[in-house]
Amino acid sequence: MQGKIIKVSGALVVADNMVGAKLFDVCLVSDKKLVGEIIEIHGSKASIEVYENTDGLKLGDVVENTQKPLSIKLGPGLIGNVLDGIGRSLKNIYESVGDRIKTGVDAQTLNEEKKWKFTPLKKLNDEVCEGQVLGSVLESQIITHKILVPQGVFGKITQIKRGEFNINDVVVKIKTKNQFVNVCLSSFWPIRIKRPIKKKIEVSQPITTGQRVIDTFFPLARGGVAAIPGPFGSGKTVVQHQLAKWCDADVVVYVGCGERGNEMTDVLNEFPTLIDPKTNRPLMEKTILVANTSDMPVAAREASIYTGITIAEYYRDMGYNVIVMADSTSRWAEALREMSGRLEEIPGEEGYPAYLGSRLASFYERAGNVLTLGGENASVSCVGAVSPQGGDLSEPVSQATLRIVKVFWGLSSSLAYKRHFPAIDWLISYSSYVPNLKGFYQNNLSYDFLERKNYVMKILQEEKELDDVVSLMGFDVLGDKDKTTLLIAQIIREDYLHQNAFDETDTFSSLKKQDKMLKCICEFAKLAYMAVESGKVYEQILSIPSRSLIGKMKYIKEDELEKIDTIISQISSDFLSLNSKEEEE
Ligand code: ADP
Ligand code: MG
Repeated sequence: MQGKIIKVSGALVVADNMVGAKLFDVCLVSDKKLVGEIIEIHGSKASIEVYENTDGLKLGDVVENTQKPLSIKLGPGLIGNVLDGIGRSLKNIYESVGDRIKTGVDAQTLNEEKKWKFTPLKKLNDEVCEGQVLGSVLESQIITHKILVPQGVFGKITQIKRGEFNINDVVVKIKTKNQFVNVCLSSFWPIRIKRPIKKKIEVSQPITTGQRVIDTFFPLARGGVAAIPGPFGSGKTVVQHQLAKWCDADVVVYVGCGERGNEMTDVLNEFPTLIDPKTNRPLMEKTILVANTSDMPVAAREASIYTGITIAEYYRDMGYNVIVMADSTSRWAEALREMSGRLEEIPGEEGYPAYLGSRLASFYERAGNVLTLGGENASVSCVGAVSPQGGDLSEPVSQATLRIVKVFWGLSSSLAYKRHFPAIDWLISYSSYVPNLKGFYQNNLSYDFLERKNYVMKILQEEKELDDVVSLMGFDVLGDKDKTTLLIAQIIREDYLHQNAFDETDTFSSLKKQDKMLKCICEFAKLAYMAVESGKVYEQILSIPSRSLIGKMKYIKEDELEKIDTIISQISSDFLSLNSKEEEE
C-alpha cells in the first residue's frame, strides 16, 4: 500500500495511508522522488519534512516509505567534496545536470565509479574486533582513509584483497560467530545517531588556531565546544574561516547553514587556493564543505549540522582530530522553528519549539575527546556561530547555546565598529578549558605563560575601570601609574589582540610566537611600572623609543622569531638608560 499526499504546506507534506511508518523514516515524495523525513505520525497519517522545493506537488501524489532513517554514505571521496544538507554531492550534481539544479536529482554522496588503491594492514585468518583498521586508502596527500571493522563485528578474516576498487567493492570478508560480514570501502550511517566510541576522555590539549586572542586567552580544547555569538557584521564568519584555514585539526568540516550564498561562494573560491600551514598541501585535501545557504531549501538546513558532525565522527573513528564549524546555528534554529510552526506545535519562547535546547545539545554533545572503538585517542571539536538579532544574547538560541558550550567568544559590535578585529570582547568571553590545558602550556611554552596571560588580562580589566573615570573627569586627573596602565592596555589591544585576518603574516601566529610576543609586552609593562614606582613620570614612559617596535612584532615572520628577543633586549636597555640618565642629572 502506498501513501498519498493529503496536504502540502511549504516544506511540510502530510500523507495518509502510511501504515507501519516510523518517526524519522525517509520517504520519497511524488514521482519526482523528493527526499523527506517523517517528523510526526497520527494514526495512518504522517507529516513529512521535505528537503527539496515542494512547488508542484499535488494532493493524491504518491509517497513511498523507504523505512530507513536519513543516512549518509561514508567512504573515500568525502575529503575535498561539497555536499548539500542531506549529504548529496553538489559537485556530482553539477557534473551531471549543470548549475540549474532541478529537484529530485538522485545525486550520490560519493563517486561510485572511481577506483581507490586499497592497501591491507591485516592478513588472512587474523582475528579482528570492531573499530580496528583493516587497511587503508590514500584519500588525499594529507589524509589516509582507514577502512575499519564495522561496529559490533568480531571475528576472523576469511578474505582480504589488495588492489584497486570502487567504494562498493567488497575488500574484506570476516567470519563472525554466526555470519559472514562483507566490508567494502564505504558504509552508511544514520545522521541523527552518534557513532559509538569506547569512552570519553578528559580534554588535555588545545586546538591551536593561530589567532592570538583565542589561543592565549580563550583557548579551545581538542574535543571541546565553542560558540561565537555576535550581531551582523561583527566577524563571526571571518573567525570561522580563520579557524578552518589555520587550526591544527587533521580534518575540517565546514557547515554553511542558512548564511548568504555568496559567502559560501567565497569559501568555494578561496579554500582551494589556500595552503595548509602544517602540511604545505592544499587546504581542501583535509576539508569537507556542507552547504545549505539561505537560497537552498530550508528543511535540509535542519539536517545539515547532523550530516556535518556524522562525517566528523567518521574521521575521528580513524584516529583523527576533527573540527566542525557551523555558520550559523541561529539560521538552523529558524528552520526548526519554521517546521514546528507548520506542525502547529505549541510554541515556546519567541516561537521556537520547546525542544530547541535538546536538539542543539544533540549536536554539541557529539563533540569530545575520545577513545575510539579501535582504541585510538581522537577528537571532534565543535564551533557554532550564533547570530542573535541586534546582538541580544538573552534570546532563546543564544541562551540554549550558552548552557552547553565551554568556550564563549563574544563578538562586540562596538569593537567591530572601531575596526578592532577579531572583535572578540575580552571582558565577556571565557574558556573553561584553561585548567585542563595547564600541563600542555607548562610542557610546551614558557613556564610563566599562564601567569603572564593573567597579568595582561588584569591590566585590561583595570583599563575598563579607568576608562569610566576618564570619560567623567578626563585623562589629566589620572596619576602616572594609571596613565601607564592605559598605555600598556593600548599596547595589548593594538599590538596583541588586534589581528588582521587579511595580512599575509599577521593572519597566523604560532603558539611560540604568541608566547614571545606576550613576554615582550609583559617585560615592557613590568619595567614601565618599576620606572613609575621609582619616580619617573608618564611622559618619560611614553618616550621610550623601543615602544614603537612592539607594534612591529605581529609582522615578524615565523622563521625570524629571534627578532622578538632583540626587541625585548632593546626595551630593557631603553629603560636602563632612562634610569641612568636620571642618575647623571
Ligand atoms: P558576520 O559573519 O558576523 O556577519 P563577517 O565575518 O562577515 O561578519 O565580518 C564582516 C567584516 O568585518 C568582514 O568582511 C571584514 O571586513 C571585517 N573583519 C571581520 N573579522 C576581521 C579580521 N579578523 N580581520 C580583518 N577584518 C575583519
Ligand atoms: Mg556571517
